[in-house]
Amino acid sequence: MGKRYFCDYCDRSFQDNLHNRKKHLNGVQHLRAKRVWYDLFRDAAAILQEEQTKKPCRKFLQTGQCDFGSNCRFSHMTEQDLEKLSAQVQGERRSKELQQEGADVPPGAIEDWLEKRAKRLSAAQSNSERLIKLARSIAVSRQPQ
Ligand SMILES: [Zn+2]
Ligand SMILES: [Zn+2]
Repeated sequence: MGKRYFCDYCDRSFQDNLHNRKKHLNGVQHLRAKRVWYDLFRDAAAILQEEQTKKPCRKFLQTGQCDFGSNCRFSHMTEQDLEKLSAQVQGERRSKELQQEGADVPPGAIEDWLEKRAKRLSAAQSNSERLIKLARSIAVSRQPQ
């Protein structure tokens, strides 16, 4: 019962009330996850560019499985995934611009924006979880050997 708050960064949800939210948003785990998230999005633009130049992996898109996993030279992202990723990259860019404009932005504007975005994402939660996991696995596979 009650509504639940889905934290985009931590990939988890909890019962939505002021106390829980405050506790969560100031928690070490959340702050760490948030940093990881921003690292991931620094890579997202690069991943997006790379994925867009690949041909789709037919096997993966048809069966949901591919033996090559994240090493596959074809893209495992559907058109929708790519659209979402590109929306996220743009959103990230916008929030950086807001931060750079500094004084003109009322404090909390970015948090508001992230919260709205988290709500939007929770509507398509399963999809976005899949995308996040996919993006993470790509980010990991991009680490230098
Ligand atoms: Zn969190
Ligand atoms: Zn594949």
